[in-house]
Amino acid sequence: MHAIRWRWYVLAPAALLVCVSVPAAYYAAHPEVVRTFLVEFTGMQRFQQDVFVDPAMTGDARIRLQMSLALGRQRVADVFGEVLARPIVIATWTPSTATRFGINPRATGFTRLTWTRSFIVLGPRGISVDVLAHEIAHAELSQRIRRFRLSSVVPPWFSEGLAMLVDRRPQYSRGAYGQLVARGVRVPGLGEISTAEGFYSGDADATRMAYIVSKAEVQRWFALVGRNGLLRLIENISTGQDFARRYRAIEAEAGAGRLGR
Ligand SMILES: [Zn+2]
Repeated sequence: MHAIRWRWYVLAPAALLVCVSVPAAYYAAHPEVVRTFLVEFTGMQRFQQDVFVDPAMTGDARIRLQMSLALGRQRVADVFGEVLARPIVIATWTPSTATRFGINPRATGFTRLTWTRSFIVLGPRGISVDVLAHEIAHAELSQRIRRFRLSSVVPPWFSEGLAMLVDRRPQYSRGAYGQLVARGVRVPGLGEISTAEGFYSGDADATRMAYIVSKAEVQRWFALVGRNGLLRLIENISTGQDFARRYRAIEAEAGAGRLGR
């Protein structure tokens, strides 16, 4: 009976306090994340429907961004058939804007995945077809698998390897692989780069090697199974099937199909 005496004049201020203090605490802890989600209100300029740019960005860079976006989307469409993801792109240009959106000014870009849509944050050095294609591929995989925690359903070597299919930067090429090996950088097995920690926590050379190994593996697999195999794998994962089992099975079926021809 006593609980009934908790009247609105007690509950309402308490509820209001929670409503204000929880977002405020989140903002205090992760201001760059909140700015990303509320990019419309951060002073960034709307450049296209889903593209926001640093007001300081030069005209040349804006043209480069526009072209890179179009060509990047095309590369992703060449792999998936069509691009379903509609990520919001936030292109920073000065080191201070980069920092405000949580990207190291020397980094190229990253994708923040959420339940509803993805946000691609570009650093000042990230305006290129390769970087945009790479990040759009991450957004596309997340959209199609309908998961924003990709790492809970696919290993990093697969999501990064898939993104590398459309990323032709020379530092991830076969030539770069040879140079790293010659310098004594160890080549990891796929099992070692199946967790975020194993993939991203090494030094710069080790991480680059992880990308190169992932690219080679997914390229090899994709050459065998093609777009149909990839789309089947994605469909299977999105319905809760096990990644590793389906990845191998689809490859085995493609191999059997070739032998039968
Ligand atoms: Zn990536």
